[in-house]
Amino acid sequence: MTTAVLGGGLSGLSAGYYLLRRFGKPLTIYEAAPRVGGWVRSEFRKDRGFIFESGPRTIRPVGVPGANTLELVEELQLDIKPITRSHVAARNRMLYAKGQLCMLPNSPKGLFGVMPPFTKPLYKALLRDLVTQSTPAKLEDESIYSFAERRFGKEIADYAISPMICGICAGDAREISVRFLMEGLFEKEQKYGGVLKGSLIARFKGKVDEGKEGLFAQGQPKLYSQAVQEKWAMYGLTGGLEILPRTMRKYLGERDVNVQLSNECKNLTFGNSGVRMTVKDADVPVDHIVCSLPAHKLAPLVKVQHPSLSAQLLDIPYVDVVVVNMQFQGQLLKQDGFGLLVPPVEKLPILGVIFDSCCFDMGGNTVLTVMMGGHWFDKWFGDRPSQKQILDLATHHVQEILGIRDDPKFSRVHTLHKCIPQYTVGHKRRVDNIRKYLKTYKLPLSLCGAAYDGVGINDVILSARRQVEALQLA
Ligand SMILES: Cc1cc2nc3c(=O)[nH]c(=O)nc-3n(C[C@H](O)[C@H](O)[C@H](O)COP(=O)(O)OP(=O)(O)OC[C@H]3O[C@@H](n4cnc5c(N)ncnc54)[C@H](O)[C@@H]3O)c2cc1C
Repeated sequence: MTTAVLGGGLSGLSAGYYLLRRFGKPLTIYEAAPRVGGWVRSEFRKDRGFIFESGPRTIRPVGVPGANTLELVEELQLDIKPITRSHVAARNRMLYAKGQLCMLPNSPKGLFGVMPPFTKPLYKALLRDLVTQSTPAKLEDESIYSFAERRFGKEIADYAISPMICGICAGDAREISVRFLMEGLFEKEQKYGGVLKGSLIARFKGKVDEGKEGLFAQGQPKLYSQAVQEKWAMYGLTGGLEILPRTMRKYLGERDVNVQLSNECKNLTFGNSGVRMTVKDADVPVDHIVCSLPAHKLAPLVKVQHPSLSAQLLDIPYVDVVVVNMQFQGQLLKQDGFGLLVPPVEKLPILGVIFDSCCFDMGGNTVLTVMMGGHWFDKWFGDRPSQKQILDLATHHVQEILGIRDDPKFSRVHTLHKCIPQYTVGHKRRVDNIRKYLKTYKLPLSLCGAAYDGVGINDVILSARRQVEALQLA
């Protein structure tokens, strides 16, 4: 029985790891690029003591997905840099709104005062939820903006939910499904008629036992217990997050998993017994494929035989993001924290700024990452500005918002095309239909990765594990 994995990003490498653990060899991972990691890319300036991340930088050690990643990190013996809940980067998160930097409330006390940009104490939004009727007819899905506006009011939708969606997926909350982030709350509201009411009833009925899923036969991973005990809010990895895919590649290579770089799969042809992949103009027959490619990359590979599947895959939209990393000499931030988000109602070209040097030691430098574009990429960057123009735009806004006078000493501009899938209203149904199609036509193809089961690192690793565990290879 031969299995192949398509894609050497975090999800594909994880699929390789779980396939090896469950079924052994032979096993090959095909990656189009000359490196593994996909969107995970760290530039470690050892000489100057700082790191630029153009993709992810922190992982949340929360719930089953968080525990699952920590199990992997433990197996790979990676050096972790935890950020505890009392750390300034965990406590301080800001918005830039109405012309000023506003600290978001970080304790229950914050619910009772009026904290700009909000014009009312936040507890009033909770009261609104308590007295607001649910929709007359049950909804299958709606946008997270409309849900938040219905339950908590427009101000919460504009200044809390919309910037949060920008920070997580660079998307427009008016299009993103409520199930993307608030599935539990939405279902409670639909079932019990209110979010608070539903949460209280659910709590009364008892919590769901996360261990029930049976993922951890030997008990929960040690690192996860440590994270819970030490109250980690998030963590990074020494040397940058790219250490994770690089170490996975090494780990797999040492166990004779064939990781083929610069080997783009160009077509898939399904037959009676297995599937033939076209890789570098050669025909490679395999029994089963675990595919971690972005949906828009898989779509053309199946189009000839399965045009309807291809069209469904293309219905998952993606956005482009501009990432600008900047290093300034010395400590220039007046207010420490994880960073700031800009609510879309402000109509500025930036989505947010991450204060990397507040999260991790950056050798005495101020290191910032500016995120731009996303859902609004065409509006701001449609006529393809030069790297210099993008850098100038990012620098101007950083200086304006943070009161920094200096120019960055060192910088990088990355335009990441189609880097984040958008879980728009109906996403869950779309993914169910795609997987139903594979089942109906008995295609020897499993799908994992950011397109389907969550866009964060924990999600794509768990997505790979679940797909592998669902496999019944003869
Ligand atoms: C700017 C940014 C910031 C982020 N920040 C965070 C964060 O802080 N925390 C967090 O948890 N998550 C974050 N994420 C999300 C996280 O990076 C992704 O969830 C994750 O990297 C996706 O991994 P993947 O393997 O699913 O996909 P990808 O990384 O897209 O990997 C797919 C791989 O398939 C390869 N490929 C494509 N076509 C072919 C082909 N035809 N044949 C063979 N190979 C092919 C690609 O080259 C790529 O290597 C961020 C993402 C971005 C873009």
